[in-house]
Order: sequence, then structure tokens, then C-alpha cells
Amino acid sequence: MDEIIDRLRKVRKGAMFVVGAPSGTGKGTVIKEILKNDSNIKFSVSVTTRAPRVGEVEGVDYYFVTDEQYNEFLKQDAFYECVDSQYGSRYGTLRSEVDSFINVGQDVIFDMDWAGVRQLREKAGDDVVAIYLLPPSIRELRKRLEGRGTDTQEVIDKRMGIILDKISHWEEFDYVIVNVDLQETVTKIQKIISGERMRRVRQVGLKGFVRELVKEVEEEN
Ligand code: ADP
Repeated sequence: MDEIIDRLRKVRKGAMFVVGAPSGTGKGTVIKEILKNDSNIKFSVSVTTRAPRVGEVEGVDYYFVTDEQYNEFLKQDAFYECVDSQYGSRYGTLRSEVDSFINVGQDVIFDMDWAGVRQLREKAGDDVVAIYLLPPSIRELRKRLEGRGTDTQEVIDKRMGIILDKISHWEEFDYVIVNVDLQETVTKIQKIISGERMRRVRQVGLKGFVRELVKEVEEEN
């Protein structure tokens, strides 16, 4: 019996948890907390053409590539989704990176905006779970961006200038959380993750399991 349950647990398809939010709301912080507390969920490392920032590590934060390499990925249809940012650089989510996890029953988590979520849903359908974080207020959002200390005032103003475009797509996400208290937000996302893991479409081992149950019934009769 234990053996069957154990096998069932292993035969699972992972999900792609994508977290969207206007810059400064807290996606990065929340994702780090989730990863710290759950070894069965992995960060999907994106490809980017932008230069590494101080402290960023190749293969950990991003795969840093040239424009030529990026174009080659595009040609091979290697991306689940890709985007040209307003700041001139390009980003993409590699199919191979994500599939290497979800096909062995591990979940992945990464941040993405609404345009990426649309592309991802077209290619990955039910595998996608989209979570949107809203800031408690626009004033608080600015405070968080300033407090983070990674952007110049000019970049902060630019980020604040495109908030409406970001927020107006909130209804394209499956779950929405107002990120007031960090720990509460993390707990809510953990609950979403455990619920999503139970969905029939992810428990791909169930068919075999039910077949065994049916066989057992037939043998009994
Ligand atoms: P994003 O990835 O969405 O751009 P970050 O994760 O970098 O945002 O968070 C922006 C800033 O806000 C960081 O300094 C972070 O510590 C802070 N922050 C995140 N969540 C909260 C929260 N619930 N309350 C207060 N500050 C927060």
C-alpha cells in the first residue's frame, strides 16, 4: 500500500507558477521565500540579452546571451515566451529549462508580465498557474521602489509611469493577492501551490492507480 502511494506521489506533472506584479510590489522577494521553504519547486532561469548587474550570476539569475544567440533561440522556437522590454533588452523562457523540471514532477516558479502569461498559456495551457500581486497603494509602491535602492530616480519614474498598463491586466491572472504583509502573502501562495498540486491534470499517475483499483475490484468479484 505504502509503495503504491509513494509511486503515485512520484508520478506527477509539475506546474508553472508565474508571479506578476508592477515592479516594486514584491515578486522577487516573495519568490525567494517560496524557494527557500520548498525543495520541490525550482526557479526557472530566463535568458536575457542585458548585461549582468553587480552580483548577478550566470545560470543562477539569468543565462546572459548575445543578440546573435538570442536570435538563434527564436529561430529554433526554443522559448515558451519572450519579450522585448521597454528598456531595450530582451528576455525569454526556455522550453528546455522549464520542461526539465515539470516532466519529472517538480514545479517551477518565475516572474512574468501579462504579455508573457498570454504566450505561455497558448503554449502550455493547464500547466500554467498565474498569480498577480497588487501593491497596497501606489504611494507604498513608490516607497518600496525607493527603499529597494536598485534604481535611479529616472528609472523609478519610468516604472511608475507604466503602472496603469501593468495593473489593467490583473484579470488575466488566476489568483490575485494584495501584498500587504510579506509573510501572509507567502503563506497564501504556499496554499495555492498545495492546492494546484492536487489537481487531477497534474496527477498523471492516477490513471494507472485507478486501473489497479478496478483490477482489484474485478478480482474480488
Ligand atoms: P519586484 O520583484 O516586484 O520588483 P521586490 O521583490 O524587489 O519587487 O520588492 C521591492 C521592495 O519591496 C524590496 O525592497 C522588498 O524588500 C520590499 N517588499 C516586498 N514585499 C514587501 C511587503 N509585503 N511589505 C513591505 N516591503 C516589501
